[in-house]
Formats: sequence, structure tokens, C-alpha cells
Amino acid sequence: MKLFLSCNECSLLDETEYPEFYEIQILDLHKYEFTCKNGHKAVSIIDNPKFEMLFQVGANAIIDGYYREAISSFASSLERFYEICIKTILSSSKIENNTIEKSWKEISNQSERQLGAFTMLWLNFYHEIPELLSNKMTTLRNEVIHKGKIPSRKETINFGKEVFRLITTKLQKIIKEDSYKWLISKCEQVAMNGSEFIATGCIQTIISSKFIDKNYDSVDLEKEIERLQELRALQKRQLANNP
Ligand SMILES: [Zn+2]
Repeated sequence: MKLFLSCNECSLLDETEYPEFYEIQILDLHKYEFTCKNGHKAVSIIDNPKFEMLFQVGANAIIDGYYREAISSFASSLERFYEICIKTILSSSKIENNTIEKSWKEISNQSERQLGAFTMLWLNFYHEIPELLSNKMTTLRNEVIHKGKIPSRKETINFGKEVFRLITTKLQKIIKEDSYKWLISKCEQVAMNGSEFIATGCIQTIISSKFIDKNYDSVDLEKEIERLQELRALQKRQLANNP
């Protein structure tokens, strides 16, 4: 997946001009550095949480026809969402951050343990049993990840739809916790550390913590993927006009 970023220093020098975009490969970090055509060292902080980015990677993989990769990214998105829920709930229960991180290390390599921790913490905090990935979708995920199954587009979309619903119904609750907002802003602060001319922002993702009131019930994943495909085509055309 590619990010389309502009140089903040150029934008400040000439506010009248439409910013020129640079195509940057997405990496496992929040801070992106590149040199613009005017030689500025541009720094962009992308503060979307990991689960949002992974879901977006999954949607992009569908457009590109990589269905195995899409299912794997959606599944990882769900796991990273469970992680942020676990940490938010603990933090809301007045547990120190250092203690949370220490404890997380004990389960960080085992997704089954994380799922157990998430289920019980959610039950204790919200007094409701969280809906988890159905048996059918769990089987599909395992066949894809462990047995080399190549899923169809339809199976992949259905998997994405279920993960989307599982995340967004819970996101609407957890997003209201101050500790959730704090966890999100923490990554941005760490990445900013001492750089100049930083552009901070988030990329528009299908699942977004920035839009607390977004009505996810009316969102159709297939339509979102179509919109994403159109946006990608538009960005490609802009890049072609600014070689
Ligand atoms: Zn520049």
C-alpha cells in the first residue's frame, strides 16, 4: 500500500499552490521522512492506529486481487484492535502504563491469550459478552493463513465485512474512553520528538477513530472499496501530471 504525502515546507512557502504529492511506501511506523523536489527534508506523522492501517491494507489488497493477503491483514487488524481495547480498559481501571506494557509482554506472542484477555476484560468492563469472529470465519482465516487456501473475492469481502462489524460496533464504545484517546495520541508524540516542519495528520481510512459520530451501520464495505479504488486512480493521475 502507498501513502500520498506532501511537503509541509513547500506548502508553507506557497500557500496558493495546490500541494504536490509524493508516493511513499507504507511501513510499520508512524513517522515518514522523504526529500521533496526542492530538497526539503519532509517529515510526516501519520497517527492512525495500527488496526485502522491494517484494515486499509486489507481493502487495498482486495483492489489489487491479493485475497490471501487481504484476509491476513483484516485478521491482524482485528487482533490489534483487541490489543488497544485491552490496554484502554486497563488504563481506564487506573493501571499504570508501565505495568500494562510489562504484562502485555507476557501475552504479546500468543493471540489466543490475547483473545482470552480481551473477552474477559470486555465482559468485566461493559458487563456484556463481546461478539467474536464466527466459527465459519475463524475456519476460513485458519485455512488461508495455515493451509495455503486461496480464497475467492466473495469470501474475502464477507470476511472483511464481519471484521468491520466486529471492530466498529466496539469502537463506538471504546472511543469514548479518555484512555483510548490518550493511547492514540501517544504514538504521535513519540514520533514527533524534535523534528522541524512536521506535518501531522491521519490518512483517510475506512475505519477511523477520528470520526466518533460516523454511522458505521450504514457503511457498505464494497462501496467503500469502490470509493478507495476511485481515489487511488485520482492520485495516480495527479502524480502523472507532476512527474
Ligand atoms: Zn518541499
